[in-house]
Amino acid sequence: RSAVEITIEALERINAVDSKVKSFLQVTADHALETAKKVDEKIAKNEEIGLLAGIPIGIKDNLCTTGIKTTCGSKILANFVPPYESTVTQKLKDAGAVMVGKTNLDEFAMGSSTENSGYHVTANPWDLSRVPGGSSGGSAAAVAASECVVALGSDTGGSIRQPASLCGVVGLKPTYGLVSRFGLVAYASSLDQIGPFARNVEDAAILLGAIAGYDSKDSTSINTPIPDYTQFLKPSLDGLTIGVIEETFGEGLDPVVSKTVKAAIDHLKTLGAKVVNVSCPRFRYGLPAYYIIAPSEASSNLARYDAVKYGIREEADTLIDMYTKTRAVGFGNEVKRRIMIGTYTLSAGYYDAYYLKAQKVRTLIKQDFDAGFEKVDVLVCPTSPTTAFKAGEKTSDPLSMYLSDLTTIPVNLAGLPGMSIPCGFDDNNLPIGLQLIGNVLEEGKLFQVAYAYE
Ligand code: GLN
Repeated sequence: RSAVEITIEALERINAVDSKVKSFLQVTADHALETAKKVDEKIAKNEEIGLLAGIPIGIKDNLCTTGIKTTCGSKILANFVPPYESTVTQKLKDAGAVMVGKTNLDEFAMGSSTENSGYHVTANPWDLSRVPGGSSGGSAAAVAASECVVALGSDTGGSIRQPASLCGVVGLKPTYGLVSRFGLVAYASSLDQIGPFARNVEDAAILLGAIAGYDSKDSTSINTPIPDYTQFLKPSLDGLTIGVIEETFGEGLDPVVSKTVKAAIDHLKTLGAKVVNVSCPRFRYGLPAYYIIAPSEASSNLARYDAVKYGIREEADTLIDMYTKTRAVGFGNEVKRRIMIGTYTLSAGYYDAYYLKAQKVRTLIKQDFDAGFEKVDVLVCPTSPTTAFKAGEKTSDPLSMYLSDLTTIPVNLAGLPGMSIPCGFDDNNLPIGLQLIGNVLEEGKLFQVAYAYE
């Protein structure tokens, strides 16, 4: 089939299901057909085409796309059309991928259910009354509902892996610095990473290969050669040691998730892996440390929305009034909550007690991982303590929502790669995810385990 035909198929699928799933904030049909046409023209002329030529892809709406509105799920950016392209979407363009639309997210990627979007709520394709997870819920749902083949998300504390788990797809947060953040609207810069969603491990490996690599426009970018990740897709786990993080099977974990993940780990043994228990005693301090560090960075990053440089403006008589009126109507409640927490924890009187302390905890968590990786190749645990919850169930209780990311957050704090792969279903036929965690730049081992398991 031609790229145009494949694109039309994806657009028809979106037409058929997106009124129910609502994965997209914007479907970019004209742009997609134009891109696909160019791919077909290259093929007709026998010119070289990229690795992703003609592949329909969904892009989280916090990645800047030249000439195409980028809202971050926020009303404050309702009219923002970026004058530049993010590095990752540029790389995808170069590889011939066809962006079919910008996907929904929790406002500025703050949330775990996509219910904090300033525009609409996305449904979980497995049960439309439930959430897809978040904050990259639109991308996860779009891939799960076959509205596109693959998608990009961003993960600050779990926003790729948790929705991947809840939607039954593969989701990977790469090593911090492996994928350029240039053109990703910043939430918490020391934690944010862009990564792939896919329906199988091979597609995720190909997509990571296409977006990874050094970028001089991102000062935290790692300058390292990028392997062909598909070389790691082998059927056996002989010689590999896998560590089960003991502390993640405690309180708060749904018994069905616990049982299913343990069965998945048993299966890894039959594939040749040696499985041992590993203790990460400081893992559980990840959540409180994260909810100091992430809001602190967010309060600073979000200072730029001042009604002058970007987005909407509420006119007023004085500058201060213009700032406050614009930010009052432009930001949603969760974003305001984070800005208030972050401003408090960075304030002169409380900086040492909160921010500095949280940074020390961050180091201790990294040390737990370092000790673990002296003994094992890959660590495993549940991705999320529960399967997809009902829309509205946790919206009035931020703390219970924050707990969704208990096992994903420490991975961001340590800058490590983490992947969620589907490993079974609960009694309501809702997907369950297994999280694989690797040492710095060891995405290859994650792909090996994930592929053998799949
Ligand atoms: N749920 C977490 C938060 O709200 C993580 C979000 C993310 O990874 N972007 O901050």
